[in-house]
Amino acid sequence: MRIVDSPNHDERPPGTEISLIVLHSISLPPGQYGGDSIERLFTNCLDPEADPYFREICDLKVSAHFLVQRDGSLIQFVPVERRAWHAGVSSWRGRERCNDFSIGIELEGAEHEVFTDPQYQALTGLVRRLQSQWPIRDVAAHSDVAPGRKSDPGAHFDWARLLAALA
Ligand SMILES: [Zn+2]
Repeated sequence: MRIVDSPNHDERPPGTEISLIVLHSISLPPGQYGGDSIERLFTNCLDPEADPYFREICDLKVSAHFLVQRDGSLIQFVPVERRAWHAGVSSWRGRERCNDFSIGIELEGAEHEVFTDPQYQALTGLVRRLQSQWPIRDVAAHSDVAPGRKSDPGAHFDWARLLAALA
């Protein structure tokens, strides 16, 4: 696991139990894999001139705790104890502001494409480890906690495969 420090985090509310994992997908530019654009986005270093889309998003202050790259490599951007900024306006089981009590995991991918075998393997290992360290009750999609607003990780994410691997 590589560590890349994102400045985009703050304190969780005092006494918050970390009980949810939120899964996302991201690729920058959309549909292109590899490169360091996701790292740059999460460290506020995205070059607005490098791609027309980057101009729209380069001022966002966002992060996730982890990124699972296409080859299964993991990058951690934010310590789990800290609140990363990934879910936005969101709610889960009637509780709002999912960033407060969740861990955000980004899968490098696009909503119209399947994820790779190494990604499922790395994700499974990561979720298992997090489940052993924190009182995780649920793993949800960003689209579950922000329905209508977000659609990632997308219809090609194989929930049955993840849940079977975790069982
Ligand atoms: Zn997302």
